[in-house]
Amino acid sequence: MKIRIAKNSGFCFGVKRAIKMAMDKSEKYNKLSTLGPIIHNPQMVSKLENQGVKSIESLEESSGEPIIIRSHGITSSTYNQLHKMNVEIIDATCPYVKNAQESGAKLSKEGYTVFIVGSANHPEVKAISSYIDGESYIVKTPEEIPKKNFSKIGVVCQTTQQFSKLEAIVQKLIHQSKEIRIINTICTATTLRQESTRKLAQDCDIMIVIGGKNSSNTKMLAVISKEFIPTYHIETENEIKEKWFKNVENIGLTAGASTPDWIITNVYNKIINLLGFPSGTVNNVEDIPGY
Ligand code: SF4
Repeated sequence: MKIRIAKNSGFCFGVKRAIKMAMDKSEKYNKLSTLGPIIHNPQMVSKLENQGVKSIESLEESSGEPIIIRSHGITSSTYNQLHKMNVEIIDATCPYVKNAQESGAKLSKEGYTVFIVGSANHPEVKAISSYIDGESYIVKTPEEIPKKNFSKIGVVCQTTQQFSKLEAIVQKLIHQSKEIRIINTICTATTLRQESTRKLAQDCDIMIVIGGKNSSNTKMLAVISKEFIPTYHIETENEIKEKWFKNVENIGLTAGASTPDWIITNVYNKIINLLGFPSGTVNNVEDIPGY
């Protein structure tokens, strides 16, 4: 029997950075707030809560404590509001997200009509759009592109978009202007996690997907894995059932970009204990056999 973890799994660079900033600042201040949950992982959110970092839904709920901006950023108007409140701002916006915001703003300033490839309701897209002064559109599919010509078109992307979506939209836009400038702001963290999960699932009998049930990137990993093998999406080791491992030779583990290492380690150790594996438990996620 083998148990292995997908090559790319768990915290991405931007989330790791945001959590570290929140942890470090929680040692300095008794009270801190994040505008919305810092990540889509209930266990990490409640761990931070115990350290004095609570999640608020709007700035009206704040009583002057330092505010952490989460990795997918905030709109320019919220930023201005924060400045006016004169509170300390701990900006944990992921540098890749910041790049998308700055690229959109730059293209707009240079006279391009900016197309943002992404979901209009996503906070990251709302933030990117808020930094654009001129004409701009948020589109998810080529069908959403307005039927008219533009003098100059600029394109940026929500960082978690699939490359194929950007391609399809650009293919249509190319007929609507003589000048197109594309700044590919897609971050590969999501794609890499999906590819690693797909590969591992094809070489296992069951897969355990670890991460928040409210995390869309984790849910996507479960969807991908289910195409190949029985898959269980869990948040913690407490959800593991012994019957899943009956007649199973190869167990795969994977985790979304918002799943902390300690939860992955706990899941691995619980399986090891349950099945009486000779390989023994581990203290760090890096010690889990990889694929
Ligand atoms: S998925 Fe990419 S852009 Fe988003 S927080 Fe992680 S590293 Fe940053």
